[in-house]
Amino acid sequence: MKLLLTYTGGTIGMIQSPDGDLSPFDFDEVIRQVPEIKQMDCEIDTIQAWDPLDSSDINHNHWIKLANILNDNRSSYDSFVILHGTDTMAYTASALSFILMNFSKPIILTGSQLPIGVLRSDGRENLITSIELAMTKREDNTPAIQEICVYFEYKLFRGNRVFKRSSQAFEAFSSPNYPILADVGVNIDIHEEYTLSPEKNYFFEPEMDSHIAVLKFFPGIDEAFLRNTILNSGRNAIILQTYGSGNVPKLDFLSDILDEARDKGVLIINTSQCPGGGVSQPAYAASRMLRHSGVLSAGDMTLEATITKTMWLLGRGKQGKVFEQLFLKNLVGERTI
Ligand code: ASP
Repeated sequence: MKLLLTYTGGTIGMIQSPDGDLSPFDFDEVIRQVPEIKQMDCEIDTIQAWDPLDSSDINHNHWIKLANILNDNRSSYDSFVILHGTDTMAYTASALSFILMNFSKPIILTGSQLPIGVLRSDGRENLITSIELAMTKREDNTPAIQEICVYFEYKLFRGNRVFKRSSQAFEAFSSPNYPILADVGVNIDIHEEYTLSPEKNYFFEPEMDSHIAVLKFFPGIDEAFLRNTILNSGRNAIILQTYGSGNVPKLDFLSDILDEARDKGVLIINTSQCPGGGVSQPAYAASRMLRHSGVLSAGDMTLEATITKTMWLLGRGKQGKVFEQLFLKNLVGERTI
Protein backbone atom coordinates (compact mmCIF):
# COMPACT_ATOMS: atom_id res chain seq x y z
CA MET A 1 0.00 0.00 0.00
CA LYS A 2 1.20 3.47 -0.81
CA LEU A 3 0.06 6.60 0.98
CA LEU A 4 0.82 10.23 0.21
CA LEU A 5 1.05 12.47 3.27
CA THR A 6 0.66 16.15 2.36
CA TYR A 7 1.58 18.96 4.70
CA THR A 8 -0.09 22.37 4.46
CA GLY A 9 0.63 23.84 7.92
CA GLY A 10 -1.54 24.48 10.97
CA THR A 11 -0.96 23.99 14.69
CA ILE A 12 0.06 20.36 14.22
CA GLY A 13 3.39 21.54 12.80
CA MET A 14 3.97 24.60 14.95
CA ILE A 15 6.80 25.31 17.34
CA GLN A 16 6.99 27.91 20.09
CA SER A 17 9.44 30.72 19.26
CA PRO A 18 11.47 32.36 22.07
CA ASP A 19 8.96 35.27 22.17
CA GLY A 20 6.14 32.79 22.83
CA ASP A 21 4.51 32.95 19.38
CA LEU A 22 3.62 29.78 17.54
CA SER A 23 5.21 29.56 14.11
CA PRO A 24 5.31 26.71 11.60
CA PHE A 25 8.24 24.31 11.40
CA ASP A 26 9.19 22.08 8.56
CA PHE A 27 7.68 18.79 7.61
CA ASP A 28 10.74 16.67 8.43
CA GLU A 29 10.46 17.86 12.00
CA VAL A 30 6.77 16.92 12.16
CA ILE A 31 7.62 13.44 10.92
CA ARG A 32 10.53 13.18 13.36
CA GLN A 33 8.07 13.77 16.21
CA VAL A 34 6.04 10.71 15.23
CA PRO A 35 8.60 7.96 14.54
CA GLU A 36 5.80 5.37 14.87
CA ILE A 37 4.61 6.08 11.35
CA LYS A 38 7.73 4.35 10.03
CA GLN A 39 6.47 1.12 11.59
CA MET A 40 3.15 1.27 9.80
CA ASP A 41 2.43 -1.36 7.25
CA CYS A 42 2.54 0.94 4.24
CA GLU A 43 4.94 2.97 2.19
CA ILE A 44 4.50 6.64 3.06
CA ASP A 45 5.75 9.43 0.82
CA THR A 46 5.57 13.01 1.98
CA ILE A 47 5.04 16.26 0.14
CA GLN A 48 4.79 19.85 1.28
CA ALA A 49 2.02 21.66 -0.60
CA TRP A 50 3.53 25.12 0.08
CA ASP A 51 5.48 26.86 2.83
CA PRO A 52 3.47 25.92 5.94
CA LEU A 53 0.51 28.23 6.49
CA ASP A 54 -1.83 29.00 9.30
CA SER A 55 -5.07 27.82 7.76
CA SER A 56 -6.63 31.29 8.07
CA ASP A 57 -4.34 32.18 5.14
CA ILE A 58 -5.73 29.40 2.97
CA ASN A 59 -8.10 30.46 0.19
CA HIS A 60 -9.69 29.09 -2.98
CA ASN A 61 -6.36 29.23 -4.85
CA HIS A 62 -4.80 26.89 -2.28
CA TRP A 63 -7.73 24.47 -2.64
CA ILE A 64 -7.06 24.33 -6.36
CA LYS A 65 -3.34 23.78 -5.81
CA LEU A 66 -4.02 21.03 -3.28
CA ALA A 67 -6.59 19.42 -5.57
CA ASN A 68 -4.01 19.43 -8.36
CA ILE A 69 -1.52 17.62 -6.11
CA LEU A 70 -4.13 14.97 -5.32
CA ASN A 71 -5.27 14.65 -8.91
CA ASP A 72 -1.68 14.32 -10.21
CA ASN A 73 -0.96 11.56 -7.70
CA ARG A 74 -4.30 9.75 -7.86
CA SER A 75 -3.09 6.76 -9.82
CA SER A 76 0.25 6.44 -7.98
CA TYR A 77 -1.16 6.14 -4.43
CA ASP A 78 -3.83 4.10 -2.67
CA SER A 79 -4.69 6.75 -0.13
CA PHE A 80 -4.03 10.29 1.02
CA VAL A 81 -3.68 12.08 4.35
CA ILE A 82 -3.48 15.87 4.56
CA LEU A 83 -2.16 17.78 7.57
CA HIS A 84 -4.04 21.07 7.80
CA GLY A 85 -4.85 23.78 10.33
CA THR A 86 -8.14 23.28 12.05
CA ASP A 87 -9.50 26.81 11.55
CA THR A 88 -10.46 26.33 7.91
CA MET A 89 -10.12 22.56 7.60
CA ALA A 90 -13.87 22.14 7.06
CA TYR A 91 -13.78 24.61 4.15
CA THR A 92 -10.87 22.80 2.49
CA ALA A 93 -12.50 19.40 2.98
CA SER A 94 -15.78 20.67 1.50
CA ALA A 95 -14.05 22.35 -1.45
CA LEU A 96 -12.05 19.20 -2.26
CA SER A 97 -15.21 17.09 -2.17
CA PHE A 98 -16.60 19.13 -5.08
CA ILE A 99 -13.39 19.72 -7.04
CA LEU A 100 -12.38 16.05 -6.86
CA MET A 101 -15.83 14.61 -7.47
CA ASN A 102 -15.96 10.78 -7.13
CA PHE A 103 -12.20 10.56 -6.42
CA SER A 104 -13.08 7.16 -4.88
CA LYS A 105 -9.93 6.83 -2.75
CA PRO A 106 -9.50 7.86 0.89
CA ILE A 107 -8.52 11.48 1.43
CA ILE A 108 -8.35 12.24 5.16
CA LEU A 109 -7.63 15.70 6.55
CA THR A 110 -6.38 15.99 10.08
CA GLY A 111 -4.52 18.37 12.36
CA SER A 112 -4.37 19.13 16.05
CA GLN A 113 -5.27 21.60 18.74
CA LEU A 114 -1.80 21.38 20.33
CA PRO A 115 1.49 21.35 18.39
CA ILE A 116 2.84 17.87 17.80
CA GLY A 117 6.01 18.55 19.82
CA VAL A 118 3.99 19.36 22.95
CA LEU A 119 3.69 16.51 25.47
CA ARG A 120 -0.13 16.45 25.58
CA SER A 121 -0.55 16.98 21.85
CA ASP A 122 -3.54 15.40 20.17
CA GLY A 123 -1.59 15.47 16.90
CA ARG A 124 0.15 12.10 17.21
CA GLU A 125 -3.05 10.10 17.63
CA ASN A 126 -4.83 12.11 14.96
CA LEU A 127 -2.03 11.50 12.48
CA ILE A 128 -1.47 7.79 13.23
CA THR A 129 -5.18 6.91 13.18
CA SER A 130 -5.79 8.92 10.00
CA ILE A 131 -3.13 6.83 8.29
CA GLU A 132 -4.65 3.66 9.67
CA LEU A 133 -8.14 4.64 8.50
CA ALA A 134 -6.80 5.55 5.08
CA MET A 135 -5.29 2.06 4.80
CA THR A 136 -8.35 0.13 5.95
CA LYS A 137 -10.06 -2.12 3.40
CA ARG A 138 -13.55 -3.54 3.06
CA GLU A 139 -14.12 -7.28 2.77
CA ASP A 140 -13.97 -7.02 -1.02
CA ASN A 141 -10.52 -5.40 -0.73
CA THR A 142 -11.72 -1.95 -1.84
CA PRO A 143 -10.89 1.01 0.44
CA ALA A 144 -13.21 1.32 3.45
CA ILE A 145 -13.22 5.08 2.90
CA GLN A 146 -13.75 6.33 -0.63
CA GLU A 147 -14.44 9.99 0.08
CA ILE A 148 -12.99 13.15 1.58
CA CYS A 149 -13.07 13.06 5.39
CA VAL A 150 -11.91 14.86 8.47
CA TYR A 151 -10.48 12.75 11.30
CA PHE A 152 -10.29 14.32 14.73
CA GLU A 153 -10.29 13.08 18.32
CA TYR A 154 -11.45 9.51 17.76
CA LYS A 155 -14.07 10.35 15.13
CA LEU A 156 -14.11 10.24 11.37
CA PHE A 157 -16.46 12.72 9.70
CA ARG A 158 -17.62 13.30 6.15
CA GLY A 159 -15.55 16.30 5.09
CA ASN A 160 -18.43 18.34 3.70
CA ARG A 161 -20.57 17.78 6.83
CA VAL A 162 -18.27 19.10 9.57
CA PHE A 163 -17.61 22.46 11.09
CA LYS A 164 -15.16 23.59 13.72
CA ARG A 165 -17.14 23.83 16.94
CA SER A 166 -14.46 24.61 19.51
CA SER A 167 -11.18 26.51 19.52
CA GLN A 168 -10.17 24.86 22.81
CA ALA A 169 -11.61 21.35 23.10
CA PHE A 170 -9.75 18.40 21.62
CA GLU A 171 -13.15 17.46 20.23
CA ALA A 172 -12.91 20.39 17.82
CA PHE A 173 -15.33 19.25 15.12
CA SER A 174 -18.96 18.35 14.88
CA SER A 175 -21.22 16.98 12.18
CA PRO A 176 -24.72 17.87 13.36
CA ASN A 177 -26.65 16.75 10.28
CA TYR A 178 -24.88 13.55 9.27
CA PRO A 179 -23.74 10.53 11.29
CA ILE A 180 -20.10 9.89 12.11
CA LEU A 181 -18.37 7.58 9.61
CA ALA A 182 -16.14 5.84 12.15
CA ASP A 183 -15.67 5.70 15.89
CA VAL A 184 -12.21 4.95 17.16
CA GLY A 185 -11.59 3.28 20.48
CA VAL A 186 -9.86 -0.01 21.19
CA ASN A 187 -11.29 -1.01 17.82
CA ILE A 188 -11.79 1.06 14.72
CA ASP A 189 -15.48 0.88 14.04
CA ILE A 190 -16.30 2.02 10.52
CA HIS A 191 -20.02 2.59 9.94
CA GLU A 192 -20.06 1.36 6.37
CA GLU A 193 -23.75 2.15 5.90
CA TYR A 194 -22.95 5.87 6.10
CA THR A 195 -19.89 5.89 3.85
CA LEU A 196 -19.96 6.72 0.16
CA SER A 197 -19.17 4.22 -2.58
CA PRO A 198 -19.05 6.43 -5.67
CA GLU A 199 -20.40 4.69 -8.75
CA LYS A 200 -20.08 7.59 -11.14
CA ASN A 201 -16.86 8.48 -12.96
CA TYR A 202 -14.22 10.63 -11.35
CA PHE A 203 -14.10 14.16 -12.67
CA PHE A 204 -11.73 16.93 -11.81
CA GLU A 205 -13.00 20.49 -12.16
CA PRO A 206 -10.66 22.85 -10.33
CA GLU A 207 -12.59 26.07 -10.85
CA MET A 208 -13.70 28.43 -8.07
CA ASP A 209 -15.34 31.87 -8.16
CA SER A 210 -14.86 33.64 -4.84
CA HIS A 211 -17.06 36.64 -5.73
CA ILE A 212 -19.68 35.81 -3.17
CA ALA A 213 -20.69 37.19 0.23
CA VAL A 214 -22.15 35.86 3.43
CA LEU A 215 -24.67 38.13 5.12
CA LYS A 216 -25.68 37.30 8.65
CA PHE A 217 -29.04 38.61 9.84
CA PHE A 218 -29.14 40.31 13.22
CA PRO A 219 -31.96 41.99 15.08
CA GLY A 220 -32.07 45.59 13.86
CA ILE A 221 -30.60 44.94 10.40
CA ASP A 222 -31.39 47.94 8.18
CA GLU A 223 -32.25 48.68 4.58
CA ALA A 224 -29.04 50.52 3.61
CA PHE A 225 -26.85 47.68 4.79
CA LEU A 226 -28.96 45.03 3.03
CA ARG A 227 -29.18 47.08 -0.17
CA ASN A 228 -25.45 47.76 -0.29
CA THR A 229 -24.42 44.19 0.40
CA ILE A 230 -26.95 42.46 -1.83
CA LEU A 231 -27.21 44.89 -4.73
CA ASN A 232 -24.11 47.08 -4.76
CA SER A 233 -21.27 44.79 -3.75
CA GLY A 234 -20.76 43.27 -7.20
CA ARG A 235 -21.10 39.72 -5.90
CA ASN A 236 -22.43 36.84 -8.00
CA ALA A 237 -24.10 35.15 -5.05
CA ILE A 238 -25.14 36.21 -1.57
CA ILE A 239 -25.56 33.63 1.17
CA LEU A 240 -28.07 34.85 3.74
CA GLN A 241 -27.54 33.41 7.21
CA THR A 242 -31.07 33.57 8.51
CA TYR A 243 -32.69 32.57 11.80
CA GLY A 244 -33.86 29.12 12.87
CA SER A 245 -35.29 27.05 10.04
CA GLY A 246 -34.61 29.88 7.57
CA ASN A 247 -36.64 32.82 8.83
CA VAL A 248 -36.22 36.53 8.18
CA PRO A 249 -37.93 39.56 9.73
CA LYS A 250 -40.99 41.06 8.03
CA LEU A 251 -39.27 44.04 6.39
CA ASP A 252 -41.15 45.64 3.48
CA PHE A 253 -37.96 46.56 1.66
CA LEU A 254 -36.48 43.06 1.86
CA SER A 255 -38.62 41.45 -0.83
CA ASP A 256 -38.00 44.47 -3.14
CA ILE A 257 -34.25 44.09 -2.68
CA LEU A 258 -34.42 40.33 -3.30
CA ASP A 259 -36.57 40.77 -6.41
CA GLU A 260 -34.13 43.36 -7.73
CA ALA A 261 -31.24 40.99 -7.04
CA ARG A 262 -32.97 38.20 -8.94
CA ASP A 263 -33.51 40.54 -11.92
CA LYS A 264 -29.81 41.44 -11.87
CA GLY A 265 -28.87 37.74 -11.87
CA VAL A 266 -27.45 37.74 -8.33
CA LEU A 267 -28.08 34.35 -6.76
CA ILE A 268 -29.49 34.43 -3.25
CA ILE A 269 -29.09 31.46 -0.94
CA ASN A 270 -30.70 30.83 2.42
CA THR A 271 -28.72 29.06 5.13
CA SER A 272 -29.53 28.89 8.83
CA GLN A 273 -27.54 30.37 11.69
CA CYS A 274 -28.24 27.10 13.53
CA PRO A 275 -25.55 24.51 12.76
CA GLY A 276 -28.05 21.69 13.32
CA GLY A 277 -31.27 21.07 11.44
CA GLY A 278 -31.00 23.37 8.46
CA VAL A 279 -33.48 25.35 6.41
CA SER A 280 -37.00 24.24 5.68
CA GLN A 281 -38.18 27.29 3.81
CA PRO A 282 -41.95 27.12 3.72
CA ALA A 283 -42.33 26.14 7.39
CA TYR A 284 -43.07 29.66 8.67
CA ALA A 285 -44.72 32.71 7.13
CA ALA A 286 -41.47 34.51 7.99
CA SER A 287 -39.65 32.49 5.33
CA ARG A 288 -42.37 32.10 2.67
CA MET A 289 -41.43 35.43 1.12
CA LEU A 290 -37.89 34.14 0.47
CA ARG A 291 -39.22 31.27 -1.60
CA HIS A 292 -41.41 33.62 -3.62
CA SER A 293 -38.34 35.75 -4.39
CA GLY A 294 -36.52 32.73 -5.81
CA VAL A 295 -34.14 32.32 -2.86
CA LEU A 296 -32.46 28.90 -2.87
CA SER A 297 -32.49 26.80 0.27
CA ALA A 298 -29.17 25.41 1.46
CA GLY A 299 -31.15 22.66 3.22
CA ASP A 300 -29.04 20.94 5.85
CA MET A 301 -25.67 21.81 4.32
CA THR A 302 -23.02 23.31 6.56
CA LEU A 303 -22.08 26.92 5.90
CA GLU A 304 -18.69 25.64 4.69
CA ALA A 305 -20.30 23.30 2.17
CA THR A 306 -22.73 26.03 1.09
CA ILE A 307 -19.91 28.50 0.46
CA THR A 308 -17.61 26.09 -1.37
CA LYS A 309 -20.39 24.52 -3.46
CA THR A 310 -21.53 28.00 -4.51
CA MET A 311 -17.95 29.00 -5.45
CA TRP A 312 -17.45 25.77 -7.36
CA LEU A 313 -20.69 25.94 -9.33
CA LEU A 314 -20.09 29.61 -10.19
CA GLY A 315 -16.48 28.84 -11.07
CA ARG A 316 -17.69 26.29 -13.58
CA GLY A 317 -19.93 28.92 -15.15
CA LYS A 318 -23.21 27.52 -13.81
CA GLN A 319 -25.90 30.18 -13.62
CA GLY A 320 -29.66 30.58 -13.31
CA LYS A 321 -31.68 27.37 -13.54
CA VAL A 322 -28.62 25.13 -14.04
CA PHE A 323 -27.03 26.52 -10.89
CA GLU A 324 -30.31 26.06 -9.04
CA GLN A 325 -30.74 22.47 -10.13
CA LEU A 326 -27.19 21.46 -9.14
CA PHE A 327 -27.20 23.48 -5.93
CA LEU A 328 -30.40 21.83 -4.69
CA LYS A 329 -29.15 18.36 -5.59
CA ASN A 330 -27.07 16.14 -3.32
CA LEU A 331 -23.87 15.78 -5.36
CA VAL A 332 -21.35 14.22 -2.94
CA GLY A 333 -23.24 13.53 0.25
CA GLU A 334 -23.28 17.19 1.28
CA ARG A 335 -27.07 17.49 1.77
CA THR A 336 -30.03 15.32 2.53
CA ILE A 337 -32.78 17.97 2.39
N1 ASP B 1 -4.65 28.67 13.55
C1 ASP B 1 -4.43 27.27 13.34
C2 ASP B 1 -4.76 26.93 11.91
O1 ASP B 1 -5.90 26.73 11.58
C3 ASP B 1 -5.27 26.48 14.29
C4 ASP B 1 -5.08 24.99 14.21
O2 ASP B 1 -4.42 24.43 13.39
O3 ASP B 1 -5.67 24.32 15.10
O4 ASP B 1 -3.86 26.87 11.10
